[in-house]
Amino acid sequence: MITLKGAEVSAKIKEQVAADLKALGIQDQEHAPKLAIIRVGERPDDMSYERGAKKKMENFGLRVESYVFPQDISDGEFKKAFQAINQDKDVTGILLLRPLPKQICEKDIEKMIDPVKDLDGISPENIAKVFAGDENGFAPCTAEAVIQVLKANEIPITGKRVTVVGRSMVVGKPLAMLMVKENATVTICHTRTADLKGTCRNAEILVAAAGKAKMLDGGYVGQDAVVIDVGINVDENGKLCGDVDFDSIQEQAAMATPVPGGVGAVTTAVLAAHLVRAAALQR
Ligand code: NAP
Repeated sequence: MITLKGAEVSAKIKEQVAADLKALGIQDQEHAPKLAIIRVGERPDDMSYERGAKKKMENFGLRVESYVFPQDISDGEFKKAFQAINQDKDVTGILLLRPLPKQICEKDIEKMIDPVKDLDGISPENIAKVFAGDENGFAPCTAEAVIQVLKANEIPITGKRVTVVGRSMVVGKPLAMLMVKENATVTICHTRTADLKGTCRNAEILVAAAGKAKMLDGGYVGQDAVVIDVGINVDENGKLCGDVDFDSIQEQAAMATPVPGGVGAVTTAVLAAHLVRAAALQR
């Protein structure tokens, strides 16, 4: 089985980002597009993603600033602060770490975010574009990262049977639409799927985005399938792991992404690419 490493895909995206910055006439980090990461509270998952995203932006020659708010901030206070960041001309793109605390209406924020700064595709306008197959919007970075892993490794998608386990608005559903755009034949699975094992085993490309540690073992993987693991979980020993039991699929899978070191590294690279595209759109 071949391990599909996220770092290699990220390096390719970095080259493209450098070329795009050059085309925009941006030669130094001081004048580079700026990402605003908005975090409410101190959730360890958010803080770990924030650290990864910051490191990636700096490594790609981009600017980044974190805006951190207390967990108990009121809906009104947060919206006021959010709107100020949203309208700040120095901010090129926004990454909002979610879920937000219950007192803040997330739906309102999704409607407020400027679609040309909405790098993770949470606004109704960008979601509609993903579902319409219009590439001019921003798809959620993780969903797009899965497509980038396949393309960078020259794995054909057209005509393939793709199974996506998970139907969230962040990963499963938008990814299914991106796969359809790439001419795949897509099946979406969830907790009510009757024959999960059989449906997964029938896939030529299997994407796991369920958020359940090591739930898909070799029995879920068809012979020579490509397995993309989006899951980020902690196993019984407190170690980071995916939704796929990586060691148990070696005989069945032709290729698979590891966790860590797979899709996660590509997600932040896609975020960087979106930031540069946002800069171009705002010119
Ligand atoms: P989510 O909102 O919890 O959605 C999980 C989906 O998986 C739901 O649709 C759920 O079905 C389905 N599911 C859960 N258990 C299942 C089971 N036993 N059998 C079949 N389907 C099952 O999670 P998410 O936000 O999409 O994230 C999914 C995973 O990706 C998480 O581990 C998350 O940490 C990770 N993630 C990674 C990145 C990255 O950059 N790599 C980015 C975002 C998220 P129902 O709809 O029926 O409940």
